[in-house]
This record gives sequence, structure tokens and C-alpha cells, in this order.
Amino acid sequence: MFEQCPRRWRFRYVERLPDPPGVPALVGSFAHLVLEALLQEDPADRTPARARTLARARWPEFEADYDYAALGLGEAESREFRWKAWKAVEGLWALEDPAGVEVVATEEKVEATLGGVPFRGVVDRIDEGPDGMVVTDYKSGRPPSLRFAPKRLAQVLLYAAAVAEYMDRMPVKARLLYLGQRVVDTPVTEETLESTVESLASTWVDIGTACAADAFAPRTGPLCNWCPYAANCPEGSADIERRAAERAAQEESLLRMAG
Ligand code: SF4
Repeated sequence: MFEQCPRRWRFRYVERLPDPPGVPALVGSFAHLVLEALLQEDPADRTPARARTLARARWPEFEADYDYAALGLGEAESREFRWKAWKAVEGLWALEDPAGVEVVATEEKVEATLGGVPFRGVVDRIDEGPDGMVVTDYKSGRPPSLRFAPKRLAQVLLYAAAVAEYMDRMPVKARLLYLGQRVVDTPVTEETLESTVESLASTWVDIGTACAADAFAPRTGPLCNWCPYAANCPEGSADIERRAAERAAQEESLLRMAG
């Protein structure tokens, strides 16, 4: 978040303004819950039918949770939410057969010091693959284009670095499973881990510098449209308005050309 926009980071982690999860994040959370339970079953029982039973069993508790309740969804919206979550769960079979996965751990809490930075995270899954240990993170959003894949992989590579330190064993692969879509992965090597950890350490230094000077520059751009703090941020609000006006002008000129 700090790399995306230091100002947003300040709102979230210094001012501690609320950032409630929206529907897409919670759909992902529910799918994670079901997949975590599924991968704890015996391999032969990891079937879509079993996943459905697990989803039904976990739904009442999830539905009663504050974050979900805060969405205030009506009956039809709630049905759509469950349908999306089920599509994400079912999407696992499009990528791999869970019955063939040798699970080492699911939802593993890892703590490590990486490049001098204290790091804590929850790894969705650690498997034993044919060539060694694999660190996997589930994703329910859209997979990145080739250009943005390395940035997305940085997070799971940090998990791989933490797992290497925490379990004293080097993983061989880090994967993002975009449920129902595709797998984005990378081999884990000393070099990839080193450069990922260096980048974390450099961001850590930048955070320290920004905190010492209380200087958190806004980094405006298309992501401002999804920023929960846009109303608190004059630069971001102005950028959103400017881009909306540009879009409206483009649409008007296209309409004129078509007319
Ligand atoms: S609105 Fe944009 S510039 Fe402002 S905090 Fe959010 S992301 Fe940063």
C-alpha cells in the first residue's frame, strides 16, 4: 500500500481510518475458508460435493460476521454473493486436482525477519510438489497481464522468503492461483528472494523516513477511484474529478462523431 500511495498508507496505518472490506474481498475470504477446510480433508474426499457441504456448514457463521453483516445485502444480493464465492471455490478444479495435492500446511502463520524487517503473514497453502516445497496463495480477482505479474508475485515471494526462514527449508516455487482462471507462478531461487527482500527493506526505509518527517505524498492515479479515503484527500478527489471530466468529454466527442 505504501508503494502504491504513501498518503493512503498514512490514512490506514497512522490515522487508522476504517477500510471495510467490500464484496470482492469478502467473496475471496469465504472461498478461502472453504478451500482451507477442503484441503484438510483426506485426498480422496476433496471433491466438489464435499466442498459444497463444507460451504453450507460454514456459511451461517460467516453470514453472522460483522464485516459481512455490514454490507447490508438483501436476499438476491446475498444469493449472488454465495454464487460468486462458489464459482471461486469450484474454480480450483479448473487449475488442479486437489486430490493430488500433498498438503504440508494450510493458513500457516509465519513470522520472520526479512532484510531486517519484521514480517508476519498467513500463507494460504504450503505443498510438497514433485520437485520440492511450493508456496501457494489463492486469488479470486482478475489475473495480471504479463507486465504486472512480477509485482503481484512479489507478495507470494515474500511469503516464500518467510517460509524459508521459518521452516529452515527453501521452497522451489511460489504460485498465485487465480481461481477459475489461471496460475501465475515463478521459481524460487536465492536471487529472486534476495531482490524481493531488498525491495521490502527499501520500502521499510522509505516508511521510516516518511514517518520521521510526517511527509506522505499523495500518489494520484486510476487507483484513487477505489481508495476508501478519497473523500479525505483533496489531491485524490481532484484527480478523480479530472479523469471523470476527461471521460465525459471523450464520450461526448464520440457521440458527436457517431451522430
Ligand atoms: S485518493 Fe488517491 S492520492 Fe489520495 S490517498 Fe487515496 S490513493 Fe492516495
